[in-house]
Amino acid sequence: MKRRMALRLGGGGLVGLGLGACSTRADIPPGPALHFAPVEVDWNRVIRTTVGLRPHRPSGFTLRADRLDAKTVIHNYGHGGAGISLSWGTGRMAAEMALDHASREAIVLGSGAVGLATARQLQRRGFEVTIHAAAVPPNTTSNMAWAGFTPGSWLVEDNLRTPAWDAQFREAVEISYLEFQWLAGRGYGVEWLDHYSLNDNAPPPRRRRRPTRGRGPLLPEHLSGGGRFVLGPGEHNFPTQYAVRRTRIRIEPAIYLDALVRDFRDHGGRLVIRKFEDAREIAALPGSLVFNCTGLGSGELFEDPELMPLRGQLTVLVPQPEVNYGISTFSPDAPDGVTGVSMQPRNDGIILGSTREAGEWSLEPNAAAREHIVNTHKALFDRMARP
Ligand SMILES: Cc1cc2nc3c(=O)[nH]c(=O)nc-3n(C[C@H](O)[C@H](O)[C@H](O)COP(=O)(O)OP(=O)(O)OC[C@H]3O[C@@H](n4cnc5c(N)ncnc54)[C@H](O)[C@@H]3O)c2cc1C
Repeated sequence: MKRRMALRLGGGGLVGLGLGACSTRADIPPGPALHFAPVEVDWNRVIRTTVGLRPHRPSGFTLRADRLDAKTVIHNYGHGGAGISLSWGTGRMAAEMALDHASREAIVLGSGAVGLATARQLQRRGFEVTIHAAAVPPNTTSNMAWAGFTPGSWLVEDNLRTPAWDAQFREAVEISYLEFQWLAGRGYGVEWLDHYSLNDNAPPPRRRRRPTRGRGPLLPEHLSGGGRFVLGPGEHNFPTQYAVRRTRIRIEPAIYLDALVRDFRDHGGRLVIRKFEDAREIAALPGSLVFNCTGLGSGELFEDPELMPLRGQLTVLVPQPEVNYGISTFSPDAPDGVTGVSMQPRNDGIILGSTREAGEWSLEPNAAAREHIVNTHKALFDRMARP
């Protein structure tokens, strides 16, 4: 047992240093089985299905300064499936682009995760900020997110990456990763959660990534999931042979976004509810500095033809406070749009996902996807051993 503990701690420590090591099964004698509280999945426990449109750009988010008549407009939008994860990073980078600007008054367009984090990063640097937004939490796409720290998720097509964009991305991830760590456990709805990938096949040993020619891996090694550990047959009550644990940051959007609005107001921020029809209305705003964080709204406002919706859907069950882990597993017979089967607990319910449908604008739930996701979770958790 001592040896097992030492290997666990050693593996975690090395991952923390970015060396990507993990314990190997061969080294570890079996330990007592871990028991996880099963999720009670039933159609009569479904409390809602939500749909959100991720603001996706195949070549990745836009973070750059532009001119609009006499104004400087700093664009910060198009973060696809990773907008919450990247928001503190691109928010700080956007704010720092304005440090040489003569004015210390800024308008932020948008009050989702990206607009709010950008506004806070500006306030920390001495700017007086007014947010203008058509919708505020809980009525933003950000409120519809699964909201893990998933910085590489469906963000960019590999063949469209550029070294300049990669550098922006990596800087944004580094900044955000620390910011979320500082928020954990402080009433922001940000916590660390053990997440298990369930599989009947033994996972291959994780190797240290070698430098590759060309673009290389999108995500820095030390940010791709901490504390990897493999539970084998007999070591857990999941209905698969293996459960690979990683410890990840989970964000609860309802708590988190409200907390950001509160912080923004507490630091003197003003919020104006207003929908803009086109860029001319933005050009007519007072002041000379605008941050565009309108997510999918940027497509029409600033004529970005690349911006498209990646529709995503989550089904929510009655909360179960005793469930303190997440899972994901592959789903081979999934209907179109379903990307896998995954569950994470939150205060507002047990969240089941997930889907990705490119170019779909409808906010109507995809009934086939919902049925598949609920039934697959039901089959999985019904087979889980109970005490
Ligand atoms: C199912 C699902 C799962 C997801 N999971 C994750 C995850 O695990 N991790 C993660 O990081 N991300 C995840 N995302 C993605 C994440 O939700 C988005 O990347 C993020 O919400 C984008 O934030 P935003 O602030 O840019 O946009 P939004 O939240 O859409 O905010 C845009 C703001 O701009 C305003 N606006 C838009 N147009 C106008 C206009 N014309 N005039 C005035 N105001 C305007 C809106 O009213 C709103 O206030 C997920 C999304 C979905 C749908």
